This record gives sequence, C-alpha cells and structure tokens, in this order.
Amino acid sequence: DTALLWFRRDLRLADLPSLLAAADAADEVLACFVLDPTLIASSGERRLKFLYDSLRDLDEQLDGRLLVVRGKPENRIPLIAKAVGANSVHISADHTPYGVARDERVEAALSKVGDDVELHATGSSFAVTPGRVTKSDGEPYKVFTPYFRAWRDHGWHTPAKSGPTSATWVDPADVTSSEIHAHDIPDLDVDLSIPAGERAALKRWKQFRGGTGDYSDHAVGDYDDERDRPDHDATSRMSAYLKYGNIHPRTMLADLTRLESDAETKTGATSYLRELCFRDFYASVLKQWPHSAWQNWNRDFDAIEVDEGTDADAAFEAWKAGKTGFPIVDAGMRQLSGSGFMHNRLRMIVASFLVKDLHVPWQWGARWFLDQLIDGDLASNQHGWQWTAGCGTDASPYFRVFNPTTQGLKFDPTGDYVRRWVPELADIEGKAVHELKDGRPSDYPDPIVDHKAEREEALRRYQALSK
Ligand code: FAD
Repeated sequence: DTALLWFRRDLRLADLPSLLAAADAADEVLACFVLDPTLIASSGERRLKFLYDSLRDLDEQLDGRLLVVRGKPENRIPLIAKAVGANSVHISADHTPYGVARDERVEAALSKVGDDVELHATGSSFAVTPGRVTKSDGEPYKVFTPYFRAWRDHGWHTPAKSGPTSATWVDPADVTSSEIHAHDIPDLDVDLSIPAGERAALKRWKQFRGGTGDYSDHAVGDYDDERDRPDHDATSRMSAYLKYGNIHPRTMLADLTRLESDAETKTGATSYLRELCFRDFYASVLKQWPHSAWQNWNRDFDAIEVDEGTDADAAFEAWKAGKTGFPIVDAGMRQLSGSGFMHNRLRMIVASFLVKDLHVPWQWGARWFLDQLIDGDLASNQHGWQWTAGCGTDASPYFRVFNPTTQGLKFDPTGDYVRRWVPELADIEGKAVHELKDGRPSDYPDPIVDHKAEREEALRRYQALSK
C-alpha cells in the first residue's frame, strides 16, 4: 500500500516528522507538491523562484521522484490519493488563515474518496506548535517576554531522524494518468541573493553556527553584539530557509542549546534562540487572531488618521524606490528591491518612516515587503509592521518615533551600509553620509519631508486617537 506525503512549507527531508509518519503508515510513499494558483498569485517573483529552486533540490534528493502537479489542492490531492490507492495523506500542520481553510477543504474532499482517506498532520514548521503555549488560564499571550519564558519552559522535541532513505519512494512516472498531469518544476529568470533548498540551508546554518571556516567561526558567538549592525552583515540570513521549511527550527535549537553551554558562544546563542522564538510567537498570534493578518491587531487603532490619495501615493513611490532623501531609509529600500532581503534594523527604520513620517497605512508597506522579500512571511511580516505601527501585540509605543538620521549614525556608524546601497553617496566618507551637512550630490534627492514636523504630526494623530 501507499501513503501520500504532501509537501507545503516543509521542503526538506531531514527532521520531518510527517515523512516518518507516512513511512510508518504504508509500504511505499509518494512525495508530491501542488502548485496552488492562489498561493502563486500572492507570492512575489523572488519567493516563487526560491520555492521552485527548493522543489528542485527536493526532487534531486529524491532521484526525480517528486510529483509536482498544478491546481487546487482540494481537487488534486484526492485525485492523486485515489490514483495510487492511498489510505492516508501526510502533512506538516499549517496554521495560517489560508492554510487552515485549505486543509479543511482537502480533508472534506478526501473523506469522499473511497474508504475515507485521512489527512494526518504531524509536526509543524515551528519549534512549538502555534497556539500551544498559553497562560495558565488557557488565554493566549499578548506580550513576548512571558511567552518566551513559557516557550522555553515548554521545550521542544529533539530533531526527527528522517532523510531520503526513510521511505520507499513511489516513482511518479508509474502513477501519472491522464487525470494527473505531472508538471515540470517551473523556473524563473531571477537572481537570488540567497541560494534555495535544504542542502543550501544546512550549509548556511553550519557556517553560521561555527566550525566550518569560510563564514566566521564565531558568527553565533558575535551575534548578540553584532546583530544590529547592518554595515557588518552579521545576521544568519536563515529566514527564507525557515519560511519554506528547508530547515526545521528544532535542528537549529538543538545546536543552539549546545552552544549555550560554551562560554564563548553562550550569549550569542541565547540571543539567537530568542529571535527564533519571535517567529514562533508571531505565528501563534496570527493563529489566535487571524484578523491581524491585514487589520490592526489592536482595534483601537482603526480610528487613527492615515494619509491616502495622490500625495500619499507619491510619497509611497519615493519610499519604494529608495528616493526619500534620507540615506539610511533609501539604503534599506534599495537593499530590498536590489536583493530581496533587508536587515532587521532597516526593516524597523523604513517601516517607522513610512508609517510615522509619511503617515501611510502600514498595510501598504507590508504588501510591498511581501512582494519583494525572499523571506516574506505573513505572520512575521504583518506583526513586524504592527510592532512598528504601534497597533500590534506588545508593540513599540506609537509615540516612539525613530529619527532616521540618528538611527543611521547609531547602527551604521561607519556609513558603509549606506554607501553599499546608495551609489550617489559612494564618495562621501565615514558617517557624514548620514547627515550630508556639506551638501548633497546633485543626483541625490532632498528630503521629501521635514522629520521634525512629521514627528509632531504623528504625535498629534496619536493623541487624537487616545482622546
Ligand atoms: P537573524 O537575525 O539571523 O535571526 C534569526 C531568525 O530568527 C530569522 O531568520 C527569523 O526566522 C527569526 N527572527 C528574527 N527576528 C525576528 C522577528 N522580529 N520576527 C520574527 N522572526 C524573527 N521575518 C521574516 O522571516 N519574514 C518577514 O516577512 C519579515 N518581515 C518583517 C517586517 C518588519 C517590518 C520587521 C520589523 C521585521 C520583519 N521580519 C520578517 C523579522 C526579521 O527582520 C527577519 O526575520 C530577519 O531580518 C531575517 O534575517 P536573518 O535570518 O539574518 O535574521
């Protein structure tokens, strides 16, 4: 008999509990992926390229035995299950609003196939399943730090011991019929600054956790001191791999807890582990409050005055193009459009600028980020934006308005980051690049707003809200 292993955002073979569950359930396993037009339509080009390359990596590891089809999962999965006579379909749970609704539809459709084919969810893409860590009264956490404490106390499983040889794989060529059209894995002519796939993820992680030479032996060790320095580029860049499940966070946490017992890497490992917890936290927040995907988590903010219309459109275009005349903001926005990645400190700076200096709805910025980012992820992105906009769970207070120049001086003190991304400013040395006190090159724009005045305006709007 055969079980179906349906991949989604878990594009790997190591540490994959659903693979072990499928192999346990039947003699043979058919691996499949459904190109879902709804998800494809909502992914930016770079994310699609990352997805397709991840599928290629998976297919290679399976010696070409990944079945890829295109269509609505609620149509495709039952068809495939029926064609191979599968009794069970195995997945890693997906807790996003779309994922939950889709899986309910698939489950209902499967129950109509022959003898009730079951959809089995084993594991998720998170260290701790979203929604599992709650307060003692069962209520979800609204504040990160107590969630973090409870998350650590709860703990997580050790990595599942799975891999390419964990199952006897069915060759899709033996099961495709006129109803099941195998689809080639698509390709896109897009450069990725981060190579996709499980093997690339494991390589990158080994470099970052240390011990393999070519990155830095102490990347994790230095993380706590260096993580806020975009000019040093000292973060792991693991986010896209986590987003597509090329690696499971548990694999990383197993290393991190080991690194915590070494004096040289302890502080960095704890600090990194805390960031991974943010990812779990925001997935939990989205599961508990699905409205927060596109609406203010804190509904009190629904009444805040935002700018919409021609002027806001023009300001938004300047922001997207990295032509605001604020060097640190422009550098961040150009890193985004130029590479599909942006350093976390920059994400906070440019988001604050859009919401509090330009008074544009955070949703506009969040949509642009999702379009451009390779790691674009609904839970982390929307709640990152809402943290900045002040309407999220334990958000940065609205009245704390980042001064872009001060942020630049503090976090890019060498000015190297700005020069790397804004070529018009390449000849201005040192940190002077942030203030441009001696004038601006003629091809670099004047500031599109007066930060001081817009800060006052942001505070006025906030005060009007709290009245
Ligand atoms: P590292 O510093 O090496 O962190 C390690 C891992 O921890 C990351 O890969 C990520 O999985 C997780 N992590 C770190 N910080 C956060 C955080 N604040 N929230 C959630 N997870 C975190 N992250 C995304 O993965 N996708 C997004 O779409 C996204 N959008 C964001 C939008 C805004 C406005 C803000 C402020 C943050 C956003 N983040 C997002 C969080 C964070 O900026 C990125 O995860 C991080 O920059 C990725 O780089 P890295 O892997 O080198 O991070």
